[in-house]
Amino acid sequence: MLIESYTLEDRPEQSDSHNGLELFDTTESTTLTDSYKRRFTYLRLSITDVCNFRCNYCLPDGYCHEGDKAHLSLDEIRTVAAAFAKAGTRKIRITGGEPTLRKDLPEIIRICKQTPGIEKVALTTNGYKLTKQIDELLDCGLDALNISMDSLRPETFQLITGHDKLDEIKQAMAMAFERGFTNIKINAVLMKEYNLGELQAFLDFVRDTPISLRFIEVMQTGDNQQFFNAQHVSGEVIQEQLIAQGWQPVMRDADAGPAKEFTHPDHQGRIGLIMPYSKNFCASCNRLRVASNGKLHLCLFGDSNIDLRPLLGQRDSDQLAAYLHQAVAGKKESHLLHDQETGLTRNLAMLGG
Ligand code: SAM
Ligand code: SF4
Repeated sequence: MLIESYTLEDRPEQSDSHNGLELFDTTESTTLTDSYKRRFTYLRLSITDVCNFRCNYCLPDGYCHEGDKAHLSLDEIRTVAAAFAKAGTRKIRITGGEPTLRKDLPEIIRICKQTPGIEKVALTTNGYKLTKQIDELLDCGLDALNISMDSLRPETFQLITGHDKLDEIKQAMAMAFERGFTNIKINAVLMKEYNLGELQAFLDFVRDTPISLRFIEVMQTGDNQQFFNAQHVSGEVIQEQLIAQGWQPVMRDADAGPAKEFTHPDHQGRIGLIMPYSKNFCASCNRLRVASNGKLHLCLFGDSNIDLRPLLGQRDSDQLAAYLHQAVAGKKESHLLHDQETGLTRNLAMLGG
């Protein structure tokens, strides 16, 4: 049964079900798998939609509060993590908005990390508070860190994000390295007029820095159409230059997700390309998303979501896990970005990217 287009409360009563849900038998542990045989072992969990930056591609006018936005509580997060783990999820990425704005972020990392079945907890952040928080976050068991850094020039960084924070973010990275933590990725959204000209500087940056730097094609969202039209560059432009300079594509596992990665013998770091407009991008999708308001999004650009809060209130992770198996069957084959269909997503701060 397709359950994508209405919330749990909207669903019709079913006599042979529990709370309107036909429960799957999860006694045999299975990984969430959709009707296109894609397996979902990765959850992107947004813990707030609030952000303190004004990235030009995301929230150019800054965060604007809109009603009905209570974020997931620690108990709700515990149930989400346990349910996804029971349904085969092995990695949780905590995202936002800006997740470091939540004071209980260390506790959230700890909860996810202590959930049986979860092997890896990652964080995506704009890095704003990292110099103050990095030690505590690593102490809580954080396994991987993605930091957004769209430019290596302080003035351009400020122009893009509204904040003069580049040096501090580099300092936070250095602090992590000092502790021996190197599982760091840099995210850079590729923009024609802002950072395309910095490709060589980015490549030089990973010559001696053992991190993965990932260029993300700017994606159209409900709010940024003009910006997208002016700034979008295909990652293929970068790919051609990488190959011309001797970078080699890395073979990746089928479950590894949609990024393409490249290595070079003279460089310690790697380059990744995330090209959502490329052919078959969605074929390797391995992730589901839960927004900070408790809505399950089967696709970043889907036109509907499913409110998990009625189930979260019962703190029953078995029931939620069973429901997830049912829900994922409704995942569509592909996003419709090529047709300028951005679904419900006005900006990626709503969902965490
Ligand atoms: N605030 C955190 C940060 O910026 O890292 C986490 C949330 S942010 C929405 C997650 C990722 O989405 C960031 O790497 C950001 O650069 C990226 N992003 C946001 N809007 C985007 C867009 N329209 N196209 C491509 N990437 C985008
Ligand atoms: Fe905030 Fe991240 Fe969006 Fe930038 S990309 S405005 S840091 S949520």
